[in-house]
Amino acid sequence: MPQWANWSGGVTCTPQRIATPASEAELIDLVRQAARIGATLRVAGSGHSFTPLCATDGVLVSLDGLQGLVAADPAAHQATVWAGAKLYALGDLLWEHGLAQVNMGDIDRQALAGAISTGTHGTGRTLGSLSTQVVGLRLVTAAGDVLDCSPAHEPAIFKAAQVSLGSLGVISQVTLRLLPAYYLHERTWVTSFDECLAQLAEQIENNRHFEFFWVPEHDERLPLVKGYTDQEPPQGRLARYVREERIDRSYRIFPSERALKFNEIEFALPADAGSTCLCEVRQLMHTRYPDVVWPIEYRTLAADDLWLSPAYGRETVTISVHQAAELPYQPFFADVEAIFRNHHGRPHWGKIHSLTARELAELYPTWDQFQGVRRQVDPGGALLNDHLRVLFGR
Ligand SMILES: Cc1cc2nc3c(=O)[nH]c(=O)nc-3n(C[C@H](O)[C@H](O)[C@H](O)COP(=O)(O)OP(=O)(O)OC[C@H]3O[C@@H](n4cnc5c(N)ncnc54)[C@H](O)[C@@H]3O)c2cc1C
Repeated sequence: MPQWANWSGGVTCTPQRIATPASEAELIDLVRQAARIGATLRVAGSGHSFTPLCATDGVLVSLDGLQGLVAADPAAHQATVWAGAKLYALGDLLWEHGLAQVNMGDIDRQALAGAISTGTHGTGRTLGSLSTQVVGLRLVTAAGDVLDCSPAHEPAIFKAAQVSLGSLGVISQVTLRLLPAYYLHERTWVTSFDECLAQLAEQIENNRHFEFFWVPEHDERLPLVKGYTDQEPPQGRLARYVREERIDRSYRIFPSERALKFNEIEFALPADAGSTCLCEVRQLMHTRYPDVVWPIEYRTLAADDLWLSPAYGRETVTISVHQAAELPYQPFFADVEAIFRNHHGRPHWGKIHSLTARELAELYPTWDQFQGVRRQVDPGGALLNDHLRVLFGR
């Protein structure tokens, strides 16, 4: 039996079969065949989710065979992309057509459909998640029907599918809203925790992208911040905490290397609760978890209207907390989660959390609409696994 593991190694499974269709036609055949024999089916991107979204003992579909561009339309600032395309390969392909993604996250290892299916995001107060860059997608439902969805065609399914955890079908193509190719100027610098918070609103306002890392071992002195700034880069010992200032193509600036494996919890919080929540997590780490050396990341995200998006209906701050992959994280993350939940946080779907259907339904005004669409397109639950049954209450 084949084995599958996610990036951190925290999720493993033994699917009956891992299928890698080489074309959309093969994918449709595969899904129809699974439907005929009543097999359950999950689809994986690059396995970079920390939660067991992809785990299955049924058929695990990989779209690694569906890469690259279907078509680009530079005049309309759009491109249609095969859903298995890795983000790291997409940058060059789009640039050749004079195009670039509006925003990206911290890494570019994900598959496009994998990234949008959990609402993967970068930072920027006026910028939505990658899911908000989607203007159309093709869905192969559990029955093997092919649906082209957009705001004009199957709008309800489209709204649900933009963040859908692989529960509505296999996305085979994605049409993205893009920008004319652009460069970014990145600066990183260090400042004190208090100064960082004092300048937070201004920095968020004045930078297209702004984020910072609070590094516990340096507490007061070294939150590491990133964005546009007029400040000089620091000299001497502190300089090792900052990257060299650089200007490059946008898709080369956004991602960074993640050499060490970790586990992560991240919640999306109402923007005005962000700094209070951060201070509470910092206090928790000082008092109860002084041995944790991994930084906290603080980012911003624009409100959107996607039914299962953690940024649904509100300006958002995301706070991410990490622990080394080889160390236990459960009590630490449980205490952090309690703080996030106290501030009405919504979990990142791909990062560790313990919320179940009842709690999630309270956090999402459009929960029932999503579940209605899900039951409509997958009435038999062929696309559910144990984790999704807990999330959706099935
Ligand atoms: C080192 C690291 C850094 C990260 N940085 C960020 C970050 O900066 N911002 C952020 O928001 N998140 C971040 N994440 C989380 C990550 O972006 C998400 O978990 C993302 O969903 C992973 O993409 P993937 O391609 O690996 O998808 P997977 O984890 O393989 O799958 C995720 C979901 O997508 C579904 N899916 C995959 N392909 C398809 C398809 N073709 N059709 C339908 N459903 C599909 C799966 O069924 C599953 O539900 C990071 C994770 C890691 C490990």
